[in-house]
Amino acid sequence: MAVNANCVFCDIAAGKIQTPFIYEDDDVIAFADMRPIAPTHVLVIPRAHYDTLAHVATGSDAKSAALLGKLLQVAGALGRQLAQKDGGYRVVINNGPSAGQTVYHVHLHVLSGRHFAWPPG
Ligand code: 5GP
Ligand code: ZN
Repeated sequence: MAVNANCVFCDIAAGKIQTPFIYEDDDVIAFADMRPIAPTHVLVIPRAHYDTLAHVATGSDAKSAALLGKLLQVAGALGRQLAQKDGGYRVVINNGPSAGQTVYHVHLHVLSGRHFAWPPG
């Protein structure tokens, strides 16, 4: 499995940075964002390192399709489970600097508990 030595999310996945997992399986983990921007703010990541969404979605191979499907499945299940108010939640992937990506290990934000404006800022 791809691991990046200078990656905070690889360290979390490997247990080097102690972080309680809200969900885990062989391929995917989820944990609370350390700087939440909503009452519910969970990150869903693959255990394997990919810099960005673009790096997972490189082609039409079954492996990347399965991983992308699983990431969305977990995000959807956690959204359903952790959603507040009317059950609404938002799933966000920031891809690249102009989209606001700061950690270059692909991750899905699952957000709930307040109103989210559209279009996003
Ligand atoms: P991005 O801006 O790349 O889409 O989101 C990165 C997210 O990771 C940010 O919301 C930030 O608060 C969160 N984050 C960065 N470092 C850590 C960490 O060490 N632990 C946790 N739990 N979250 C982190
Ligand atoms: Zn990583």
